[in-house]
Amino acid sequence: MNIANLSLRPTSSCSFHRRRMEQQEVPQAQGRPEDGVGDPYFPGLGNPGYDAQHYTIQAKVDVQDNQLEVKSKMEAVATQELPSFNLDFQGFAISDVKVNGQPAQFQRQGRELIISPQAPLPQGQSFEVDVAYAGRPEPYHSPYAPIPLGWSHRNDSTYVLSEPDGASAWFPVNDHPQDKATYSFEVTVPKPYVAAANGRLIETRPGYDDVKGVETSTYKFEAREPMASYLATVTVGELTSQEEFSRSGVPIRHYFPVDLAREASHDFGRTAEMLDFFSEKFGPYPFETYGGAVIDASVGGAALETQTMPIFERGMVTGDRRMETVLVHELAHQWFGNSVSVKNWKDIWLNEGFATYAQWLWLEKNQGSDALERQVQRVHRNLGWNQDGPPIADPGPHELFSGNVYMRGGVTMHALRKTIGDEAFFSTLRTYTERFRDKNASTEDFIAVASQVSGQDLNPFFDRWVRQTTLPPLPA
Ligand SMILES: [Zn+2]
Repeated sequence: MNIANLSLRPTSSCSFHRRRMEQQEVPQAQGRPEDGVGDPYFPGLGNPGYDAQHYTIQAKVDVQDNQLEVKSKMEAVATQELPSFNLDFQGFAISDVKVNGQPAQFQRQGRELIISPQAPLPQGQSFEVDVAYAGRPEPYHSPYAPIPLGWSHRNDSTYVLSEPDGASAWFPVNDHPQDKATYSFEVTVPKPYVAAANGRLIETRPGYDDVKGVETSTYKFEAREPMASYLATVTVGELTSQEEFSRSGVPIRHYFPVDLAREASHDFGRTAEMLDFFSEKFGPYPFETYGGAVIDASVGGAALETQTMPIFERGMVTGDRRMETVLVHELAHQWFGNSVSVKNWKDIWLNEGFATYAQWLWLEKNQGSDALERQVQRVHRNLGWNQDGPPIADPGPHELFSGNVYMRGGVTMHALRKTIGDEAFFSTLRTYTERFRDKNASTEDFIAVASQVSGQDLNPFFDRWVRQTTLPPLPA
């Protein structure tokens, strides 16, 4: 994630976010602690007892009235015997729940949807859960995010932004990065609106809505690589798409609001070059497709690395490539955060530290190594003035998106590069993205790879940089 104010000023704006978040009540209605997957920050998030494999989300979107009519399906495997099981889901009116095609009992408790099939599901069995629901999506004000999450509506357009715990505000889900799954989206919108989602566009089908008497378009997307739930997204608006290929052959498709297409096209003009540059540094681009979507949000300059299709607030588009550093940030997340996801949310610095450092690598490519050094020293100096935050490897649930996590994370990467040298550093990154591709990794996993590749025990280095508060000096 990137919030404009936050990424530019390491500490001052985050305390603003912190203060704002402290005023909110932390919802405890996430089920009993034992209902979650065991994330120390979010004990109620996600659900044990099954492994989600695939989600199918068929949505009819009334763009003007902001109404959704959805049929969702989760295909999963029971990892223990299940007399009942939970999904994370909030809002909407549920009209029907089926397990393996049979009507099932359900009840709702806060953000938990508790489903009891007609007979217990035996351990190891594959099963399907269908949920039909409808209503007006409500933005979810998470105490852990600086901006509203879930399905948002603005000016005859919609977008979805869910990091870290907002996916349950638009579909029933096992809402934790540890349970990745593949996704199919089938989104029907009235003409002339266009829908975009994660993955590859498979089909565009014309139709007719008898009830409203309007022509429709149905867009089908397949996201065939495993994805964390917070990265699932759908955006609808008066959009135009623009296509190209990277030199390495990755199809790139951007979605721009029609009225902003010319400026956006210029701002996104170096995307293929960026993708090829980072494929060299980080290892092969990990997904089938790529491309950004410009959304009609107005929440302070937000961007999110939604998998294969990051989203960018329209105010960032200026037509003079000022947003390039944010484009680089969200692209880098495709490797760091999306393909390799956090094991638990406390590992967030692995996402944001890498994405921040990627911005500086792009600076180095364009302006040389002196510019990189000056940038790192400037940020290091700023961090030094404010050494009261928690360690970045355990920032606490309310500091996931603090400037400290981003900036000290980025500086830590540079310090590592200085300590082990360019060859071992970039080899570490490529080994890490290959080893944990489509999986989850923790701080300990990254330290193990860096130590192995460099042949040095880097635990003392990382203790100082990410597990302690006092900021170490930059290596010479
Ligand atoms: Zn980010």
